[in-house]
Amino acid sequence: MKKEVIIIGNGIAGVTLAVLLQRKGISFVLLHREEEKVPFALGETLPPSAMPLLEELKLLSLFEENAYRKTYGYHSMWGSPQVTDINFYHQNPYKNGLKINKHQTLEKMRDLIRDNMVSYCKGFEIIHEAHGNTVVLAKNEGFKIVQGKILIDATGRNRAVLQKLKIESEIHDELVALSCHIPKIEHSKLTHEVYVESFKEGWGIVSALNETENICTIYTHKGHEILPKFKDVSQWKSVLSETVYLKDFLIEDTNVKFKGGNANSSVAKEIAGSNWLALGDAAMSFDPLSSHGITNAIYTASKASEVIGKKLNIADTEAFPEYGEIMKVIFQQYLQSKNNLYQQETRWKDAAFWKRFFQ
Ligand SMILES: Cc1cc2nc3c(=O)[nH]c(=O)nc-3n(C[C@H](O)[C@H](O)[C@H](O)COP(=O)(O)OP(=O)(O)OC[C@H]3O[C@@H](n4cnc5c(N)ncnc54)[C@H](O)[C@@H]3O)c2cc1C
Repeated sequence: MKKEVIIIGNGIAGVTLAVLLQRKGISFVLLHREEEKVPFALGETLPPSAMPLLEELKLLSLFEENAYRKTYGYHSMWGSPQVTDINFYHQNPYKNGLKINKHQTLEKMRDLIRDNMVSYCKGFEIIHEAHGNTVVLAKNEGFKIVQGKILIDATGRNRAVLQKLKIESEIHDELVALSCHIPKIEHSKLTHEVYVESFKEGWGIVSALNETENICTIYTHKGHEILPKFKDVSQWKSVLSETVYLKDFLIEDTNVKFKGGNANSSVAKEIAGSNWLALGDAAMSFDPLSSHGITNAIYTASKASEVIGKKLNIADTEAFPEYGEIMKVIFQQYLQSKNNLYQQETRWKDAAFWKRFFQ
């Protein structure tokens, strides 16, 4: 199989790029691991600032139609025991964000490009050919051999392509996330269905996933002494008994859907090469506090589609290095604002979780 672009990774970044390349008439194949079970829903929130990007890419209606719901603001208790009400009413031009149903949204987007998706189950190998082309061997019982001019890493935090290219990552912290789905309750003190609260050992967020379920995610650092307790959901209510409102949402039941994983900030040491690019979390992964992971996946895919067009159509050799530089600048700006946010919480400056932000 010969294509201009080989995309590896089936998440928002890879699929968005595939849709955009298809519109430009650039041939591609999207290689992905054989379908696993429906992934655990994280119920990611897209802020109002992401809506113009989706509109520009003509993806807004697809995202809206497949979202759990629109969001109009959130509450947070961060830096003081007062609840702040962040209302999107004052945002322009969109006065709402979206609580996305990532699986459903992705399935709709994949429907647009399914003819160009190829699955494999036993990994892949990359072979660089002398004249600049790349061959990917996707392994099943036999091999599927795909030749392309440009290779894309859209494998999220796994950075599977970058690992094979021996490109290292710069890791900025050790944040981990533990999420569970719990029955939805209405809180008498909170009007928005998204609530963030910091506590001595980390912070948590609870938000409505749908009419019957909330998702609650607790963040702390790898190695923190509290982590083993958070691995047992039935202990959350007692461990978080000193939180102001977070505890009200929790239940002591062990029979809930639960998932843990990395949520740290990191960036690939190289984001673009002469014939490859990294997108989304594979390029740079953000702390979920920023609510910008999905926006980053879509933005990097949109920029990648532009520079791939320039490289293939007008042999622009500067386009890929410029892509890499833009992403590095974005990551530096992100780091600055993330650290500023954490430094606004000064109540537990000397506690193990928070002191790292003040050193
Ligand atoms: C707990 C939590 C809460 C979050 N909340 C928010 C939020 O509210 N708002 C927000 O914007 N963002 C949020 N994020 C971040 C957001 O989920 C990610 O930034 C986003 O999904 C990244 O998309 P991606 O396509 O780059 O990577 P992914 O979604 O990770 O997709 C990568 C794809 O590559 C595949 N893959 C991996 N390895 C291989 C391999 N070896 N071969 C082939 N395929 C492979 C995976 O199966 C997957 O399909 C949150 C993240 C976490 C962990």
